[in-house]
Order: sequence, then structure tokens, then C-alpha cells
Amino acid sequence: MPTFVYMTRCDGCGHCVDICPSDIMHIDPTYRRALNIEPNMCWECYSCVKACPQNAIDARGYADFAPLGHSVRVLREESKGTVSWKIKFRDGTEKDFVSPIRTTPWGSIKSPAEYESPTEESFRDQQLAHEPEFLKVDELPTLDPDDRGTD
Ligand code: SF4
Ligand code: SF4
Repeated sequence: MPTFVYMTRCDGCGHCVDICPSDIMHIDPTYRRALNIEPNMCWECYSCVKACPQNAIDARGYADFAPLGHSVRVLREESKGTVSWKIKFRDGTEKDFVSPIRTTPWGSIKSPAEYESPTEESFRDQQLAHEPEFLKVDELPTLDPDDRGTD
């Protein structure tokens, strides 16, 4: 189900452009509003839906998802930390689904730029950045570079 933008709701902030992993959300140079330039290349990840502060992005459902003539409305509610999907079938039947976006308060996760830069030494470390504390364990097993497993 690729996405599309309601241009009348979009204010051209560009958040969807920044987050789209397929680089298909672009700002129209004339109207200064976002559009999905290549729906068939959409990953259907819905990152843009979650990122849009104007709720201006919806999904265009395929016929295998619901019979033609339906609509899919997506609503991101930051205060509740949820994304709601409202599917309206052509006979008027409606189905609502609500999914949590996250389990921590909005804006509470630090960006990588807010952490100290890695040191020269850390590039030779077997652990990834912020391990083991981000995994909430005291320590992780490490490989012995001198142990070649020939014994
Ligand atoms: Fe890009 Fe994902 Fe949105 Fe598709 S659903 S336009 S791939 S961000
Ligand atoms: Fe428009 Fe929403 Fe994209 Fe901002 S995130 S440019 S409001 S569609």
C-alpha cells in the first residue's frame, strides 16, 4: 500500500522527505508541497506517515487489502503515542486499528549527535556503540583474538 499526500493538509515542512528510506518523497518545486514521486518504489514502511505532523499522508490500499472503492485513513497521535488506521469499505463498513508507535515519551530518545563522539580506541572494540549499557546487561562475551579454535 503506497502512500500519497493530501496537498491541502501538507505545509511543506519536509519531514517525510528527510525520513523516507526510498527517497521518493519530494517537495513539488511549484506548489511547495510533498508528493510521492514513485509509488511503486514505496517500501510501505509508513515512516512518513508517522513523521508527518499534519496527518497529511495516507495509504492507498491495494485490492487484496480491501475491495476497490475503500479508503484508508491514517492518524498519528503524538500525545497518545499511537497510529490509528481507519478502513472504510464501499458499503460503509468501517474498521479501526490502533497500534502503539513507541513505549517511551515522544522526544525522550537522544539523537546520536547528543552522545560523546567515539574515541580512536572504540573503533577497535568488539562491542558496538553504547554496548553493553544500551542492552541493559552488565557485560557481553568477547572473543579472544589469540584463540584460533584449533585445540
Ligand atoms: Fe517512503 Fe516509507 Fe513513506 Fe513509502 S511509506 S513514501 S518508503 S517513508
Ligand atoms: Fe507535508 Fe507532512 Fe511531508 Fe511535512 S511531513 S512535507 S506536512 S506531507
